Amino acid sequence: MKQENNQRLLQLRQEYGVWLKGEIASLRENSRCDKNSITWADIRLRLHRLAGAAGTFGFAEVGTACRALERKLDAALASNDAALFDAVALGLQALTAPARDDLPAERIHDVAVIPELKTRAGQRPDQLIVYILEEEKALAEQLCQVLAGVDYRIQHFTKQKLLEQACERYCPSALILPLHLMRQSASEKATDGVAIGETIQQRLGTSIPLFLTDVSSDFDLQLRAVRAGVEGFFTLPRDKMRLAEALDNRLRPDRLASLRIMMVDDDEILLDHYQSILENAGFSVMTLSRPDDVLSAMESFVPDILVLDVQMPQCNGPELAQVVRYHPRWLQVSIVYLSAGGDVDAQLSAMTKAGDDFLVKPIASNVLIASMAACARRSRALAGALARDGLTGLLKHADIKERLAVSLAQARRRQLPLCGVMLDIDFFKRVNDTHGHLVGDEVIRALADLLRHRLRETDLIGRYGGEEFLVVLHDTTGAQTVKIIDGLREDFSKLSFEANGTSFSCTFSAGVMEADFVHDADGLIKAADQCLYRAKNEGRNRVVTDHAWWKKAAEETAKQNA
Ligand code: GH3
Ligand code: MG
Ligand code: MG
Repeated sequence: MKQENNQRLLQLRQEYGVWLKGEIASLRENSRCDKNSITWADIRLRLHRLAGAAGTFGFAEVGTACRALERKLDAALASNDAALFDAVALGLQALTAPARDDLPAERIHDVAVIPELKTRAGQRPDQLIVYILEEEKALAEQLCQVLAGVDYRIQHFTKQKLLEQACERYCPSALILPLHLMRQSASEKATDGVAIGETIQQRLGTSIPLFLTDVSSDFDLQLRAVRAGVEGFFTLPRDKMRLAEALDNRLRPDRLASLRIMMVDDDEILLDHYQSILENAGFSVMTLSRPDDVLSAMESFVPDILVLDVQMPQCNGPELAQVVRYHPRWLQVSIVYLSAGGDVDAQLSAMTKAGDDFLVKPIASNVLIASMAACARRSRALAGALARDGLTGLLKHADIKERLAVSLAQARRRQLPLCGVMLDIDFFKRVNDTHGHLVGDEVIRALADLLRHRLRETDLIGRYGGEEFLVVLHDTTGAQTVKIIDGLREDFSKLSFEANGTSFSCTFSAGVMEADFVHDADGLIKAADQCLYRAKNEGRNRVVTDHAWWKKAAEETAKQNA
């Protein structure tokens, strides 16, 4: 795949070289015509394109010359000064096309791949090793469990010294450090996670991603953290899932494969070039040469980032960005301009209207990839935060419903079974009343964790209400679903919670409905909820599904309505 893409890039550059020769010859030809018959607007557009693209394909000098000519032409058009037009015409005649051999062969190698994370032993991304420094064993154990579940090799240390020695022997992919560390002796200097991270990084001469447990409101400390390259602050155990996600975001660049970039530019050969580079780096890329296709294309492609050229014939980039921003649905999509315009005022005005970043053509492949990766991560994190419930990290009410509707439509198209499950903790009010709200929260979170760990990544899990969850299982029949949920029910009932020196346990009830028996997403939720209601009535701590009963009930309702 990479080999093929490199070939394609090489071929593109050669094609561009040939085209460039012709384009320059044509511009020189045009500039020799009678000055009154020259279409300067057309020349300007062509210069603008060359300024943006030539450098990208290794013809930097042509690009720079065209940028200068474009500026001169702008001045001429603004002042209508004949002398300036003459100067532009002379400049055009002086343009030279580089010989084919000038194609810098070594530049082909700058086709960047995501830079490998610096590790001494050069371990592969599927064997990431993370060191954790944590004095409280129980806390570390909880975190280790979560991280081991998502394929990290974890080593836990309780003493700073031991951690430092381990780092000397083997450089980990990331360090998880406490913000505050207990002083082990009176003579020891007080230290914090940032300082420990910095020391280790200096000693090893490499930057290791740092994750801090515990949150700080101290600005100076936060600033030091930024400078030391700290990825984030996390409160344990609450944020353990968020920490796992942050590790993935930072350490598993292969996940970029699912990041989606849509690029809009009227220069198709340039689009082709960027597409090759970004696909090489593992992004999914869709390119469009016409801005009026963007909204419908976004519906089907659902990009994380929209990359817009600033000057296009039908409408400009900032206008297009504003059109997109009219739709709240696309709020979390990052908009990045990629333009040949080196003009600071134009950049500012583009950014003021809408947009998150401005990149200037020509752009080095590795810079393009790094910018896209950063942007896409931000956009994903934002989308995730907006859609997720703060207590459990699960999808929120509206989002789980929306996803269910999409899943249901897909399942119907592919003729695959799908099940909806409504799940509610039994006598939860009693937990709150007896042990307090915080302990109640702990129970809700425990059930959320259990669901997340035991169901497949493709299944949907949402917090539907207070202690009520909606789960959607893809490609699973009603009978299979009942079996799975019943297993979860048994495991949940065995969990033991501690409060005020006593321990207690909880149960849940669930209602299961297969999509075949309902019309739409709302119908599925309603039917599953009816089954849940029956489970509660029949004594709780059970899973109920009853398609025949539901079908009959639905028929009776229809009869009554008729
Ligand atoms: P049932 O077995 O019939 O479901 O009884 P229940 O007590 O679980 O149900 P009920 O709906 O009467 O009470 C649910 C309680 O959950 C009421 C509400 O205060 C509490 N609750 C809702 N959201 C939260 C939350 O986020 N945290 C905590 N601790 N409690 C919550
Ligand atoms: Mg309940
Ligand atoms: Mg309830």
